Amino acid sequence: MVEKQVQERGIQDPKVLSVLRCIPRHRFVPEGIREESYRDKALPIEDSQTISQPFIVAAMTEHLHLKGHERCLEIGTGSGYQTAILAELALEVYTVETIPKLAEKAKDVLLNQLKYRNIFFRTGDGSHGWPEHAPFDAIMVTAAPPHVPPALFNQLKMGGRMVIPLGPAPDKQELSCFTKTNTGIEKRVLFPVRFVPLIRSR
Ligand code: SAH
Repeated sequence: MVEKQVQERGIQDPKVLSVLRCIPRHRFVPEGIREESYRDKALPIEDSQTISQPFIVAAMTEHLHLKGHERCLEIGTGSGYQTAILAELALEVYTVETIPKLAEKAKDVLLNQLKYRNIFFRTGDGSHGWPEHAPFDAIMVTAAPPHVPPALFNQLKMGGRMVIPLGPAPDKQELSCFTKTNTGIEKRVLFPVRFVPLIRSR
């Protein structure tokens, strides 16, 4: 998976590659389709949600430029696979999931089975971020809103990076990377993607 799907497509950060090799992706995939865990595609989890394709997980992670000291916010825990990768590369991960059933399942795999101690979970609408633990050095969003929720910009540290899929419709999304600087927010559009929409609470 790592060599063919990730490395050969240009992901070079040795730490990202090594973490992808170590994390058992099958533990995050529903039992009935576990033999597909290392294929080159997104897979369904519960409630019409998905675990992202390995290459997308790798590319998004690489763009955060994690060194190990960061406090990281993730919106859209989903299966918890991306959460585990962030937890290996950053100091702490604060992850928010809106569907309670998915949050519970991810918590069981990450805390009880894989014994992570640097992941903190919250169930609710992640478009509000997690103000009690802000600011964050890095923010990763794994569901697509039409625009960046303002709370997420506010909770990003100066110099921090945010990777987020943006778009009004599933076939019109772009993966975007924002850096907060003294002079404002810099945006880079990376490539087209297809994510589930960010669900807004009322
Ligand atoms: N990183 C996950 C991706 C899961 S798909 C993985 O690879 O497994 C996106 C996830 O975002 C879903 O679990 C969905 O329920 C969640 N989500 C959607 N809207 C949300 C919101 N407003 N706040 C938090 N999570 C949200």
